[in-house]
Amino acid sequence: MDKKMNETEILLRFDNALKERHIVPYFQPQFNHATGRMIGAEALMRWIDPDFGMQSPVDFIPVFENYRLIHRADLSMVKQICRSLRKWLDAGLKPVPISFNISRFDIYMHDFVAEIESIRRKYGIPVELLRAEITESSAIGGMELVTDLLKRLHECGYIVEMDDFGSGYSSLNILKDLPVDMLKLDMRFLSGDLTGRGGTIISSIVQMAKRLNAATIAEGVETVEQADYMKSIGCSCVQGYLYSKPIDGEAFTALLGKTGGESLAPAFDKFGGVDAMKFWTPETMEALIFSHYVGAAAIFSYDLDSGAVEILRVNPKYIKELGMNLTEEEIIHSDPWENHDEESHREFDAAIRKAIDTGEEVECENWRRITSRCCGDDLICVRSDIQVIGKAGKEVVIYSMVRNITAEKKRSEAIKDSATFFGFLADQVNAYAWEYDIDTKRMHPCARCRRDLGLPELLENYPEPVIESGLFPQDYADMYRDWHRQLENGVESLEATIPLTPDRIPFRVRYTNVFDENGRPLKAYGSAALITEND
Ligand code: C2E
Ligand code: CA
Ligand code: CA
Repeated sequence: MDKKMNETEILLRFDNALKERHIVPYFQPQFNHATGRMIGAEALMRWIDPDFGMQSPVDFIPVFENYRLIHRADLSMVKQICRSLRKWLDAGLKPVPISFNISRFDIYMHDFVAEIESIRRKYGIPVELLRAEITESSAIGGMELVTDLLKRLHECGYIVEMDDFGSGYSSLNILKDLPVDMLKLDMRFLSGDLTGRGGTIISSIVQMAKRLNAATIAEGVETVEQADYMKSIGCSCVQGYLYSKPIDGEAFTALLGKTGGESLAPAFDKFGGVDAMKFWTPETMEALIFSHYVGAAAIFSYDLDSGAVEILRVNPKYIKELGMNLTEEEIIHSDPWENHDEESHREFDAAIRKAIDTGEEVECENWRRITSRCCGDDLICVRSDIQVIGKAGKEVVIYSMVRNITAEKKRSEAIKDSATFFGFLADQVNAYAWEYDIDTKRMHPCARCRRDLGLPELLENYPEPVIESGLFPQDYADMYRDWHRQLENGVESLEATIPLTPDRIPFRVRYTNVFDENGRPLKAYGSAALITEND
C-alpha cells in the first residue's frame, strides 16, 4: 500500500532515491487524433519508494522546489530519458520526441542548458528527440532569466513548449516576449462546455498560435468529445487519459516496439465493405496492400460541414509520385486546400461530393502548387480516383489513387502552343494548316482555313467531311484516307501535290507526325501551300 511521505521523509530520502533510481520517468504518449499516430511523449517524474510506495509529483515537487533540490531531480530525469532514447535507438526502435519539464527554479541554476546539453551529447541523442517544457509561471521570477533560457535552448536546437498555457498568468502577452514553438493547452483549465465561450476562447488561442507559428497540443484530454473538438479547431495533437495514462519505461518501450510510432486509430464505421480502421493497423492485409501493392494512394478525411480536408495517410508510392522529395510528415501536416487555387478547389470539392453522393469512384484532374523544403515551389497536375471508404459522424474517409500527369499535361500544352504558332506561321507563308488528332480522328483547322474555306473549329471523323464537301477531290480520296492510316501506323511525314477545291487548284500538301515518349504517334500537323510559279 502506498503511503504519502511527509516533508522530512522526502528530504531525508532524496539523495538515496536519486542514487538508487527510485525517482524515474514515466511516459505519457501524445497522439495525432486525426491519424491515430503517436507523435511524442511527456516524461513525468515518479518516485517509487521501497517503503512508502508510489509518490505523486504533486506532493514532492513543491518540496524539491522549496529546498532547491529540483534541478538535481530534473537533470536526473533528462539523463534517464537520454539513456532510454539511446537504448531505443540501439534496438532499432523509432522513438518519438520526449518532452521533459523544466521547473522555474531550474532557471536560477545558471548552467541548466549547458548541463542538459552535456548529457545529450554524452548519449549521442539527436536534439530533435528532446523537447523542453517551460511554464508560464517561470516568468514570475523575471522575464530576463526565461528569455535567456529560451534563447539558449533555441540556439541548441530544442523545440520549446509552453506548459499549462492559459492557466492564468498573462497568457497572450507572454507570447510576444517568449516565442515558444508549442503551446500546451490543458483541457482541465477549461470550465464548462466547449461549444460555449470556453470553446470560442480556445479556438482563438489555437488560431492565434498558428499565426505566431506555434503549434498547439491539448493535454488532459479525457473524452472523445474533447479530442474531436480540439481536432475540429485545428489542434489534432492530444495527450491525456483518453489515449493513455503515463506508463513506465518498460510499457512505453513495448508501445514503441509494437507500433513503431503508429498506434490507436480513431474508430471509423465500416463503409462499402472496406473497414477504414484496418488501414491504420500495420499488421492487416489492407495496410500491407496500401503500403506495398497498390499504386500511389492517400487516405484523407473530409468534413461534411466545413469541407475541410485532412490527409491521414499516404503510401510510399504516393510520396514518390508527387516528386518534390516531400516527407510523409510534410504532406500530412500541410493543409491540402492551400495547394489548390479557387477553381481547382471547387472542382476537387465537387468530385468529393459526387463520390460521397454516389458511392462510386470519381475521377478528378487538377493542378496543385506544392512546396517542399528541398525543391521549393512547383505546380503539378494530379489525376485522382477517389472513393469513400468510411464514415464517422460528419467526417468521411476517402481513399484516393493518384497519378502525377504533369509531364503529360505540359507536353500537350506545349503541343497546343506549337499549334498556335504553327497557325500563325501558316498564315504568313501563305499556307493552310491543321492539326489532326490521331486517336480521336479530329481535325482542328487554322484560322485561315476557317476564314477562307468556311471550315468549323473542329471536324470529326477526318478526312471524311472534306471529301464529302468536295474540298478534297474524289479521285484522291482513297489516297488521302490511306495517308491517315499511315499516320496512325507511325509514318513520320507525307507529301504530295493535290488539286484542291472544286476548282482543282494545285496545292503542296504535307503531314508531319508527332510522337510521344514511347514512340506512339500523337498528333499530325498538316499543311497545304499554294504552288506558285517559282515552285
Ligand atoms: P504537468 O507537467 O502539467 O503534467 C501533466 C499532469 O497531468 C501529469 O500529472 C499527468 O499525469 C496528468 N494528466 C495527464 N493526462 C491527464 C488526464 O487526462 N486527466 C487528468 N486528470 N490528469 C492528467 P503528474 O504526473 O502527477 O504531474 C503533475 C505535475 O508535476 C506536472 O504537471 C508537472 O508540473 C510536475 N512534474 C511532473 N514531472 C516533473 C518533472 O520531471 N520535473 C518537474 N520540474 N516537474 C514535474
Ligand atoms: Ca509538463
Ligand atoms: Ca501541463
